[in-house]
Amino acid sequence: MVSDTEAKAALIALTDIRKQYGGKEGSPAVEVLHGISLTIQAGEFVAIVGASGSGKSTLMNILGCLDKPTSGSYRFMGRDVSQMSADELAGLRREAFGFVFQGYHLIPTLDVLHNVQMPAVYAGVPAQAREERATGLLTLLGLGDKTTYRPQQLSGGQQQRVSIARALMNGGQVILADEPTGALDSRSGAQVMVLLNELAAAGHTVILITHDDKVAAQAQRIVRISDGEIVEDAVQPTRQEQPSLAAAETAMPTTASAAAVGSLSCVPFGRIGTQALSASWLQDIGTTLSSAWSALWVSRFRTFLTLLSFIIGVASVIVLVAVGQGNNEKLLQQIALWGTHRMYVGPDVDATTGLRGEFYERDAKVLEQVANVRIAMPYLAESTLLRAGGETFATDVWSVTADAPVVLNWDVQYGVFFTPEDDEALAPVVVLGKVARERLFPDVLPQDVIGQYLLLNNTPLRVIGELAEKGLVSGSSHDDDLVLVPYSTASQRIFGKPQLSYVSVVVDDLDALDQTVKDIEHVMRQTRRADDFRVSNSAAVVQGKKEVMRQQTMLLALIAGISLVVGGLGVMNIMLMSVKERTREIGIRMATGGRQRDIRLQFLSEAVVVSCTGGVAGVVIGLAIGALLMLWSVPVIFSVRAMLVAFFCALGTGVIFGIMPARQAAKLDPVVALAGE
Ligand code: ADP
Ligand code: MG
Repeated sequence: MVSDTEAKAALIALTDIRKQYGGKEGSPAVEVLHGISLTIQAGEFVAIVGASGSGKSTLMNILGCLDKPTSGSYRFMGRDVSQMSADELAGLRREAFGFVFQGYHLIPTLDVLHNVQMPAVYAGVPAQAREERATGLLTLLGLGDKTTYRPQQLSGGQQQRVSIARALMNGGQVILADEPTGALDSRSGAQVMVLLNELAAAGHTVILITHDDKVAAQAQRIVRISDGEIVEDAVQPTRQEQPSLAAAETAMPTTASAAAVGSLSCVPFGRIGTQALSASWLQDIGTTLSSAWSALWVSRFRTFLTLLSFIIGVASVIVLVAVGQGNNEKLLQQIALWGTHRMYVGPDVDATTGLRGEFYERDAKVLEQVANVRIAMPYLAESTLLRAGGETFATDVWSVTADAPVVLNWDVQYGVFFTPEDDEALAPVVVLGKVARERLFPDVLPQDVIGQYLLLNNTPLRVIGELAEKGLVSGSSHDDDLVLVPYSTASQRIFGKPQLSYVSVVVDDLDALDQTVKDIEHVMRQTRRADDFRVSNSAAVVQGKKEVMRQQTMLLALIAGISLVVGGLGVMNIMLMSVKERTREIGIRMATGGRQRDIRLQFLSEAVVVSCTGGVAGVVIGLAIGALLMLWSVPVIFSVRAMLVAFFCALGTGVIFGIMPARQAAKLDPVVALAGE
């Protein structure tokens, strides 16, 4: 039994430690350690030796705070370990312990330098300091030229030396080595033993676990364990001759023993012992992101597939919104061009008589009386030949009233429009569209055309104005080739025909449109005594178009949203796979002092890297597709808001779907994780 004072003085004091496996989910409980009591003083070199299956590794995991005993007490430097939180235990692993495993346990996706640095990353040591320290240790261990290698590019002995460098990174006050030579050839094994001896000589507490008596014989003290019980605990009276450094020197030329012993001192550098996360959090983010990136790079095909769903999602949001907005804008332009408050009432075939109705000016007068109708303009369109000087031009003549600029939402550019008085007086005047003017008066300045004459059906008409250019709309032919004449002049003097093409109706209140249409139909049926007319409601058509467009946009947004969610599921999938595949890595990170939040951050940052990359690529590709569509004259208006929303949605889904696997990884038990794969 270990006395209380003794336990408080010792570095490590185990009292009656028992460890049971199983006992859960019907598996039988098996006790592997049957009451181990053991004290180890600082600076001791202890070998724990025993046959395979005797419980050595179980004991070491408990000593290293990777695992918890089922019962018994463990005091480290006088503190009861069972009272410590998960983060405090991680701190202990980070600051006090250095692990050397039989299987090296290096992280395959990180290079040698970053493997060695890891405990210092978790300790919050600034990048430059930890890089120098890691490089120094590696040089000391004869691996100065291998810093950029991946673990699998090194031999077993070299990998083991890398793991020793890692164990020493934060000082490695207590070196816990579980069968460190077990996987090595005898020469590399000898080198590792030389190193451990040097570390012991330099003041490190070395706990060496081995099944090999010859290896154990190099320690000062041998604790023999059999079937989970200590059967012998002896300080070696005559310590076996240490193998000389020179023996190993040939294979490890850079190890200069005297200097090495000094430098391998266990004093932690720069008082990292008490340091929490330092101010170098920016660097830490850099480190986290770059290690996330290298982990993703390893499974790049899978990463690419996930990226793809984000790219599709983000790019489609951007393109769809851009095209939707482009179309909307075009529609608005069209509406602005012709006005929204407009509809046509014109002749149609009567269903019962089969006769086509005819419209006269009196119909316009009747329509003008309907509530909510502001203007009812008679309108007659005829195709004719115009002549002026030596030029002829075949085009449409619209016979309209002085209300035309309002009804058609069309102003004059030069000159004036005709007045109601002109209309009444059958004035022989005409207003030209831009194209008509250009064709009929090619050599005259636009201003000078005003006052000139042209011939329409042999009637001379004086040009009094030119209409503002409408330009090309929606690919249809433009209307700038029209000429407008007063309705009365046209029907009585030029064409001599009283029938109208239709009546253009402008309403005051667009919201009352449906009622107005009903009123119009009612009054038309009454006055005409037939159903030989038709109301075509362009405002409603426009509204309908808008509605269809809105629904389309919603549908497309839905599709885009779905692909983002699919992207999120993809992230979750690769993260879950990655947690599964990299269980051992998680264990290694925990053994080197990673806290739960470090592990969470690690996996979350992978999710963030994937979704950010996908988001950015999606924006870029979305812009590129939009630009291509522009080349095909599809109306496109990019929306910065849509880009931001799409990007942050991608990021958000990535993070949300990444959280679960990240938490799962962080919750793993260090010892379970280490045994993983
Ligand atoms: P050693 O390292 O001395 O070879 P271990 O400590 O690894 O022995 O194992 C001691 C005993 O505990 C063995 O019988 C082994 O099967 C059992 N054991 C070790 N780990 C577990 C575990 N996670 N679950 C159940 N049994 C285990
Ligand atoms: Mg073992």
